[in-house]
Amino acid sequence: MAPDDDPHADHLTHYLCIGCPLGCRLEVEEDDHGDVLEVRGFDCKKGKEYGRQEHTEPKRMVTTTVAVRGGLHARVPVKTREAVPKPLVREVCRALGTVELTAPVAIGTLVMGDVLGTGVDIIVTRDMPEGAPTRAAQRG
Ligand code: SF4
Repeated sequence: MAPDDDPHADHLTHYLCIGCPLGCRLEVEEDDHGDVLEVRGFDCKKGKEYGRQEHTEPKRMVTTTVAVRGGLHARVPVKTREAVPKPLVREVCRALGTVELTAPVAIGTLVMGDVLGTGVDIIVTRDMPEGAPTRAAQRG
């Protein structure tokens, strides 16, 4: 049957699973109320859960950098401990734009707790010792 002839086509959404390099093509079928009826196309349980999550409440990990005063480099990488709702990613980045840590900073340092009320913390992902930032680091 051609896709255009499928009476359920308007209830189907397709996703690419990013759980591993296999990249299974997922198909999520929903009912008339938007509730998930079935997830298909996964090769493992992780993909089934990903398809349901992506369809109902997509989430993303956020990785970015924040400013460091007096560090070897001008910025240090940070990330969310867990994924946050996708619609909040831009706002999380904006909130982190106002942060300035002071060197030295240790890996795992809490940068922001319960960011935007999501219950998710932001942590530093590398050590940043004290030191004058180089020109290249200031640009980066
Ligand atoms: S469904 Fe499982 S095997 Fe397929 S891409 Fe996702 S994680 Fe990998």
